[in-house]
Amino acid sequence: MIKNLPNADEYRNSAIECLTQAYNSVEHVDNQITNVTSREDLWKYHQIVLRTSLVLIHQGIEGLMKSEICQVSPLLLLDKKRSDWKTLPESKDELFEDLYTIGGEELLRTFYACIDSKRVNRNFLDVYEEVRINRNKIVHGIGRNPIEPDSILKLILNTFTYLLGKDSMWSAISSKFYNHPGFMTEDEDIEWQESILYNRLEYLNFYLGIKELNKHFSLDLTSRAYLCPFCTESAEQITNEGIKRPDSKWAFLNPNNPKSRSMSCVVCQTDFGVVRKSCKNNDCKGNVKFLLEDEDLGENKIWICLTCWHY
Ligand SMILES: [Zn+2]
Ligand SMILES: [Zn+2]
Repeated sequence: MIKNLPNADEYRNSAIECLTQAYNSVEHVDNQITNVTSREDLWKYHQIVLRTSLVLIHQGIEGLMKSEICQVSPLLLLDKKRSDWKTLPESKDELFEDLYTIGGEELLRTFYACIDSKRVNRNFLDVYEEVRINRNKIVHGIGRNPIEPDSILKLILNTFTYLLGKDSMWSAISSKFYNHPGFMTEDEDIEWQESILYNRLEYLNFYLGIKELNKHFSLDLTSRAYLCPFCTESAEQITNEGIKRPDSKWAFLNPNNPKSRSMSCVVCQTDFGVVRKSCKNNDCKGNVKFLLEDEDLGENKIWICLTCWHY
């Protein structure tokens, strides 16, 4: 018997870790840009980060394909000819990890044998080919073409969306923070967590643009964006110049239509009800309000405008 067979979830989780790690490495370098050091110079110096990220993306893609194959049978991953399998009664047991597994072309064909091809985005093959060829160049030391950080970010996002569906990228890169042990402590850490998520969205939006980013979310990020009452309240800070609130808007009507009365926030991933009422602020054309409930407010009902935070 072949023992210690892997399961689909283990492959999937480790693949997601590879992709998340690749993403984190790129974002980490981009966060080091200063007024003096340009992004171009920074990435010339940090090409190694992009090369290792590409290797991780390759590992991630293969892991996700193996995960699908495992749902049919992990035995399909074995490279050994079946007539050579030591599985007859007189043979000793073998461990899966001691055996060679398939890769490259065989892996790709076995993957498509195990999955309805309609479930995989048609562009996936192009992404896999680009990653495979460039990864081969890196591991075989052939050619040192400079790699652009934005192209690595796009490969990571596309891999998530093509193989795991919309929202999977955001769920992976945000859940790592929700599970961070630092968030089990005090309120300050919760604010820290939300500001990290805001920064991640602003970062992706800045370099890739909202149209590109929108491909990876089921919410329509190109529709009008609103302030999330929960994120805005939890991130507000009392300073000497008054209360400071983030003006980053990542909440969207869901569904997005003129009568819609529900909204979803990408940052805190909360769904909440709203009313459609015009804002009293003459400079604001907003018509979406939220009922603020607060012990300090007592019986007073405060309808806050989610466009300008006026009430
Ligand atoms: Zn929120
Ligand atoms: Zn307003």
